Amino acid sequence: MTGAAAAATSGMVCAHHHLYSVLARGMPAPPETPTSFLGILEQIWWRLDTALDLEMIRWSAMLGALEALESGTTGIIDHHESPNAVEGSLSVVAEACAEVGVRVRPCYGVTDRHGPDGARRGLDENRRFLSEGGKGMVGIHAAFTCGDGTLEEAAALAEELGAGVHIHAAEGPDDRDGPGRIEHLTADDWLLGHCVHMDTEHGLRGTVLHNPRSNLNNSVGYADPARFTNPVALGTDGIGANMIESFRLAYVMHRSVDVTATPETAWGWLETGWDLIPECRSDRVTWNYSPMDPWHIAFTAGVRPLEIEMDGEVVFRDGAPTRVDAAEVRAKAAEQAARLHARL
Ligand SMILES: [Zn+2]
Repeated sequence: MTGAAAAATSGMVCAHHHLYSVLARGMPAPPETPTSFLGILEQIWWRLDTALDLEMIRWSAMLGALEALESGTTGIIDHHESPNAVEGSLSVVAEACAEVGVRVRPCYGVTDRHGPDGARRGLDENRRFLSEGGKGMVGIHAAFTCGDGTLEEAAALAEELGAGVHIHAAEGPDDRDGPGRIEHLTADDWLLGHCVHMDTEHGLRGTVLHNPRSNLNNSVGYADPARFTNPVALGTDGIGANMIESFRLAYVMHRSVDVTATPETAWGWLETGWDLIPECRSDRVTWNYSPMDPWHIAFTAGVRPLEIEMDGEVVFRDGAPTRVDAAEVRAKAAEQAARLHARL
């Protein structure tokens, strides 16, 4: 760290997260090693989400929010699924984040994987949360796990409630046909997760959510989001909420396919987050490095927040949150992780 003086920025935004997956770390290995993207979903994430109850969701979100704050991230756009604990789940996520002091925009990822009743319950949870005044979006898991009727119902619900839709789009080869099925439904307030296996000229409206670490981890390929005319924002897809690290990775991934790429492009993707959660612009994060400039940060490891202020309140100081006890959150989350892993 060579910066002489601290520098302040607005609060970082993680534009695509899965707070429900925070307790996945250390989970038992799947019965067989997945060999494809669909296999990873079936063997890992769809077993995990099925095992969740509301208490696990609460502590998973608390730990995820705590780790966000510890990374200077004050806003999370969350995509949630818990097929055996649907009702009330979005409120649990929202309350957990509020308790820690992180802004969240949750949605429930509607899917036909659990039959028409499962899709109905997902739609109803989105409706309940948003119509009770919750700030969030309507979620769709992905086009390849939904029939056209469910896609249309979710899009109509979002339009009715004045919320956007948050959906995974062409993350893996299994959803290659997805963009063509949702193109006519999309609007500028839609969030399109991943867009790896999507044509450059795709015709979809909305913001592309780029998650480079997750894409590498799932071996799905590089989205190369600079090729799109849509706005691009950065997310983690559930692997923490450290947006400074996500920016650094997004920059070198861009560089890997274009030697003329500069850190300013990926920094711009980071800044798009403030269009998605505008309140985060007024949050103030003081960092341990100066200047917070893309050309510096792209080549500087270990950048972390010293203090975070939201709405005039200091929510993070001296490496710790002020509203909750970090050690207690970690201990409770570990208890719930043990319960979850035992179910798997
Ligand atoms: Zn995702």
